[in-house]
Amino acid sequence: MDNATFRTLLRAYEETRANNQRLVQQRRQQVYRELPALAELDRTIASLASDQGRAMLNGQPVDLAGLDRRILELSEKKSHILEQNGYPADYLDPVYQCPKCRDTGYIGNEKCSCLRQKIVDKVYEQSNIKTKLETENFSNFRLDYYSDQPAGDRPSPREYMTRVVADCREYAAGFSARKDNILFYGSPGVGKTFLTNCIAKELLDQGFMVIYLTSFQFFDILSEYVFRRDAGRDSEMSFRYILNCDLLIIDDLGTEVVNSFVSSQLFQCLNQRLLSGKATIISSNLSLSRLKDTYSERVYSRIIENYRIYNIYGDDIRVMKGLGGL
Ligand SMILES: [Zn+2]
Repeated sequence: MDNATFRTLLRAYEETRANNQRLVQQRRQQVYRELPALAELDRTIASLASDQGRAMLNGQPVDLAGLDRRILELSEKKSHILEQNGYPADYLDPVYQCPKCRDTGYIGNEKCSCLRQKIVDKVYEQSNIKTKLETENFSNFRLDYYSDQPAGDRPSPREYMTRVVADCREYAAGFSARKDNILFYGSPGVGKTFLTNCIAKELLDQGFMVIYLTSFQFFDILSEYVFRRDAGRDSEMSFRYILNCDLLIIDDLGTEVVNSFVSSQLFQCLNQRLLSGKATIISSNLSLSRLKDTYSERVYSRIIENYRIYNIYGDDIRVMKGLGGL
């Protein structure tokens, strides 16, 4: 990522901090007008704190513990008054988008996960995924799109999807302990991408670094890295993140033009991620036997041996939505 883009990211953090400070200031002015006792309490707290500071600077003996206790008592009193008047207890506390780094992007000298994800979003131009995830997440998953009629000797799509969704929720909730891989395969329009988006949203909310790529984008990045050694830092960085991010999603595998280069790159990447214990989720319209024929035997066996495999079936939801039936 070039310096100018990086500076833009950091400037956005400054703006967030400034906006939130303004917000807290507005709240304070409004609450002080309505509840003057709070203004008085804040003045007392501020003067206690400055007495404390002055005494320490002058080398005078200070009862630090006593002062702390007094400040804490007054703060609790403040929260109490706020609550009695219908405000949340922390209404006047600083507001942060990311409490971990207090919207600075850094924890000590380390980049916070929120900043790392912002870099990834920029590098892969995936910032639109955020908007998509506002609608495509577990709380919006509609099981009623799936038929409740048994499908031959298989359970009804609805019954089956109920289990798959429960599995995926459990997968996302336990991600920090177990980084499993998943393959969703099945006909177009049965909700495979929606499911991966649900998981992506959960993990992004937990602060994991997630990269979402269509199969086209994925192989584009790999071939640019391999064939254009002069492509520069961006290309190298894109490649590195693909290997190292917490979760890599490859959507619609099988739609790209497959040749032996593609197949071997896919193997290298999947294998590398398995070795370093990083999770990958793949979705594909190809059946298992087509996957095997399309890519190499070794790609196929890596997937079979190391992935949870779900064959998603049912009617094409996009067609049903289009018909206005649901
Ligand atoms: Zn952060």
